[in-house]
Amino acid sequence: MIKFEQVSKTYPGGQRALSKVDFHIEKGEMAFLTGHSGAGKSTLLKLISIMERPTVGRVLINGHDLNTIRRRDIAFIRRDIGMIFQSHQLLMDKSVFDNVALPLIIEGYTRKETTKRVEAALEMVGLSDKSRSLPITLSGGEQQRVGIARAVVNKPPLLLADEPTGNLDPKLSMEIVRLFEDFNQAGVSVFIATHDLGLIARMRYRTLTLKQGKMITDGLTDSDLEAD
Ligand code: ADP
Ligand code: ADP
Repeated sequence: MIKFEQVSKTYPGGQRALSKVDFHIEKGEMAFLTGHSGAGKSTLLKLISIMERPTVGRVLINGHDLNTIRRRDIAFIRRDIGMIFQSHQLLMDKSVFDNVALPLIIEGYTRKETTKRVEAALEMVGLSDKSRSLPITLSGGEQQRVGIARAVVNKPPLLLADEPTGNLDPKLSMEIVRLFEDFNQAGVSVFIATHDLGLIARMRYRTLTLKQGKMITDGLTDSDLEAD
């Protein structure tokens, strides 16, 4: 699903963000990406979503080599990736329904199909009764779930999350991770970047750790993580 081969990224200003990173996430896997602020987590996610390009090395998504894909294929590959951010990036003057429907409207789905899928997505995240609400009237945890519904509404095979629990307390954070588990059990690959080691420690998932742009550990959660 996601494969990095000796990937390095240096920004135009000369800032090295990733250094010879190698890893492979299989279809259907769920994994965490961690490391301190500045370690390179966002950069790594941006290489996957083709917001940034590697300076050296290869990134493959679903077998597509991102170095050689054509420009018009970029939208096609991005369609397979549901992105979730810390700041939910919701439209505050639109209803929950309209926010979740947005990706489908852009794709040109019919109104009937859109309604069906939006209702299913809201049901999955437990917000069926908030369809007509404005996001501003919802709690932080509910707003994050709207963001998740929007990310999954077109059923992408891969979910990428960048600090999805950044503004939430431990209990709500756990609920969000449980939601990701539900999607993972339905066959979706899930990759979650977070610096919340407490959250990771309570789970048993593969955890990739970046330090100053280098991948220093890759394995199941264990006490080594806390020792850094
Ligand atoms: P993290 O998400 O782990 O906090 P980032 O990927 O955002 O790490 O950043 C890794 C390094 O790359 C940092 O030193 C950061 O300052 C630098 N960096 C990130 N984005 C840019 C950019 N657009 N231009 C220049 N340097 C950047
Ligand atoms: P920051 O990294 O400054 O905290 P945000 O959390 O708002 O910013 O967004 C994370 C990053 O994801 C931004 O740099 C933005 O360019 C990028 N981004 C925004 N929309 C998308 C998208 N649809 N797909 C992939 N990346 C996106």
